[in-house]
Amino acid sequence: MSKILPVQKNDYIEVVFEDLTHDGAGVAKVDGYPLFVPNGLPGEKGKIKVVKVNKGYGFGRLMEITEASPYRVEPECSIYKECGGCQLQHLSYEGQLLAKEKQVRDVLQRIGKLPDVKVHPVLGMAEPWRYRNKSQVPIGEHEGGLIGGFYQQRSHQIIDMQTCLIQQEKNDEVVQKVKEICHANGVRAYDEPKHKGELRHIMARYGLKSGEVMVVLITRTNELTNKKKVVEEIVEAIPGVKSIVQNINPKKTNVIFGDETKLLWGEEVIYDSIGDIQFAISARSFYQVNPEQTKVLYDQALEFAGLTGEETVIDAYCGIGTISLFLAQKARKVYGVEIVPEAIEDAKRNAELNGISNAEFAVGEAEEVIPGWYKKGVVADVLVVDPPRKGCDEKLLQTIIEMKPKKVVYVSCNPATLARDLRILEDGGYQTVEVQPVDMFPQTMHVECISQLILKEGTNPCGCCLFLLFVERIYEVVMNT
Ligand code: SAH
Repeated sequence: MSKILPVQKNDYIEVVFEDLTHDGAGVAKVDGYPLFVPNGLPGEKGKIKVVKVNKGYGFGRLMEITEASPYRVEPECSIYKECGGCQLQHLSYEGQLLAKEKQVRDVLQRIGKLPDVKVHPVLGMAEPWRYRNKSQVPIGEHEGGLIGGFYQQRSHQIIDMQTCLIQQEKNDEVVQKVKEICHANGVRAYDEPKHKGELRHIMARYGLKSGEVMVVLITRTNELTNKKKVVEEIVEAIPGVKSIVQNINPKKTNVIFGDETKLLWGEEVIYDSIGDIQFAISARSFYQVNPEQTKVLYDQALEFAGLTGEETVIDAYCGIGTISLFLAQKARKVYGVEIVPEAIEDAKRNAELNGISNAEFAVGEAEEVIPGWYKKGVVADVLVVDPPRKGCDEKLLQTIIEMKPKKVVYVSCNPATLARDLRILEDGGYQTVEVQPVDMFPQTMHVECISQLILKEGTNPCGCCLFLLFVERIYEVVMNT
C-alpha cells in the first residue's frame, strides 16, 4: 500500500518557507513532506498551489506572499524571471550572504558529517553587480534579424538581451556591436533544430585591469559570410579589442565550444592581472569570471598555505597557473597540472611573463599525473586542489592520503562535493581547520569555498576502506542534490 501524501496536486495551501534549495527555490514542509517553491524565501509565509507531487517531495507555485521576509527586495533586472541566470535577485545582498553561509554549514554537516567545522561568514562584494568578465550568448534569428541573449528558462527559445546586470558593461557593448556587425554582413544564426546556419554563440572576454577584449565567434562550420569584413568592422568598432578568434563546433550538442580554434585577427590571448601577476588567457582556457573576488580567494589560498619559502607545492586543476604562480612567489617549487593543453601553454607563458622560474606545469588528469610524480619522488608539503563541480577524483584523494602533505588547501565551487571530499580526507587522516566561503557569483545561488586541512598524527585506513567510504559519500551527494 502506498502512503497517503499530506498534499495533493492542485491543493491551495498556506505554508511557511524554511530554507532554500541549491537552485534558489523556497522549501516548505507539510507534515515533514518537502515542497519546492520558486521565489519563496526562508522565513516567509505564502499561499501556494501544489503543481506536482512525487513520492518523497513535491513542487508548488507561489500565488501570494502573506508575510514577506525582511530581506525580500524588488529584483533589479527587468528580465530576471525569464532568464534564470540569476536566482537570488529577490533577496537582498545581505540575505544572499547569510543564505550561502547556511548552505555551506548545512551541507558540511549533512554530507561531510562535520557539524563543528569552523565556517566563516561569506566574504562578499561591496558592489555586487557588473562583475563578470566573460559573456557567452547563444545566437538566433527573429523577424529576419540576429538576436542573442539567453535561453528562456527550461526551453531552447532564445530571448534577445541588451544588457545583463552581472556582466561588465564592456561585455554588453561588445556583444551588441558584434551582433549588429554580423547582422549587417548577412551572417545567419545557427538553427538548432535543423542543424543548419552559421553563428552559434558569441563570447566576449574582458581583462578588467588591462582593458583588453577578446571576441570569439563560435560557428558550425569553418564558413562565415563576409568573414573578412566582419573582422575588420569588429576591429574598428570595439576599442580595446586585441584578439578575434573563431571556434568551430560542428556537433549537435549544447556544449558551446568545439575542438578547433582559429585566430582571425590580433593575438591568440588577451592579458589581465590579479594582484602583481599578469596572465595570458586564451579562448579555451578557464579563467575565474569575477576578477575582484578572485584576488580575495587567492589571498586566502596564500594565507591557508602558510608558505615560508621552503615548501614544495602541488596545484592540481591549475588552469592557466593562476594559483600556482601566486604561490610560487612564496614557495621553493610549485608543480601545476591541468587537463586542457591550451591552459598549460598559457600557464608556461604566464610563468615566463612574470619571471617565475620555480613553477613546472604538466598536461593531464590530476588523478593520473600526481600519482606519477609521487612515484618519482615528488612529495608536496602543501597540496592545493581546485576541481570542477564534480569534485576530486577518488584516485587523487587516495594519492593525497598516501603522500601526506602537511597541508591541503581545497578550493571548491560546489559545497556538496567539497563536503564529500573533506569527509574522505578526514577519514584518511586530515582535519578540516576552517572553511571560508567567498562570494564569486553575487545574485546567483553559487558559492565558492576555500578550506584549510592539516595532517593529523596517526595511522591511515587501507585503500579498500577508502573506496567504500567514497562510494558511500557519492550515494549521499546524489541523494541530497
Ligand atoms: N585553479 C584554476 C582553475 C580552476 S577550474 C583557477 O583558479 O583559475 C578547474 C580546472 O580543472 C579547469 O581548468 C579544468 O579544465 C580542469 N580540470 C578538469 N578536470 C581535470 C582533471 N581530471 N585533471 C586536471 N585538471 C582538470
